[in-house]
Amino acid sequence: MKLIIASNNAHKLVEIKAILGGYFGEILSLREAGIEHETVEDGDTFLANALKKAREIAALSGCCALADDSGLCVDALGGAPGIYSARFSGVHGDDAANRRVLLEKMRGVTDRGAHFTCAIALVRPDGSEVTAEGKFYGQIGTEERGRNGFGYDSLFYVPEYGMTNAEMTSEQKNAVSHRALALKALVEKLERGE
Ligand code: IMP
Repeated sequence: MKLIIASNNAHKLVEIKAILGGYFGEILSLREAGIEHETVEDGDTFLANALKKAREIAALSGCCALADDSGLCVDALGGAPGIYSARFSGVHGDDAANRRVLLEKMRGVTDRGAHFTCAIALVRPDGSEVTAEGKFYGQIGTEERGRNGFGYDSLFYVPEYGMTNAEMTSEQKNAVSHRALALKALVEKLERGE
C-alpha cells in the first residue's frame, strides 16, 4: 500500500522511511506524490494539527497519509512554546530568533526541565485513523552548544548523553527522539492490527 507523508522536510522523511519502510510498499513525500498543499495548522494541540494534515492529504490523494506535528514544551514557561514552537519569535521558521527568545525568557530561571512532543496521525482512505505520541525529555541549556540538527537542538541538553541534541549525531538523536518514539508507538499499534 502507498503512504504519502504530509511533509517535504527531508530530515523527517529519512527518519519516517527508515522506521515505516517495512509496512508500506511505497513511501512518498508530498512533492514526490505531485501534491501541492499547505494545511492551515490552527488546531490547539499537536494531535489536532497532525490529524488535520493527514486527513486533508488522505482526502486529496485517495491514499494512506501520515502527518506529524511537534514542538518544545518548557516546564517553567507553562509548556510554551508548545504548538507555537516554529514561531516563538513572531517570525515563522526563524530558528535562530526562536532560540534567542527562549534563552531570554529562561534567563535566571533555575527550573530548566523541558520536553519535545511529537504527535503522529495515520489516516487511511476508508477513514480509519491511528495516532501515537512520543516525548523526549531534557533540559534547556544556558547557551547554545553544537552545530547539528535544527530548531531548538543546540539548547536542548540531554543528561543521559551529556550533550545537546546538536552535539549528537543524527543516528544518536534518531534513536531516542520524540519523533522516533512516536513512530515506534505507531508501529506497535499497526502490529496489533489497528
Ligand atoms: P514541526 O511542526 O514538527 O515542523 O516542528 C515545529 C517546530 O518545533 C520546529 O520549527 C522546531 O522549532 C521545533 N522542533 C520540533 N522538533 C524538533 C527537534 O527535533 N529539534 C529541535 N526543534 C524541534
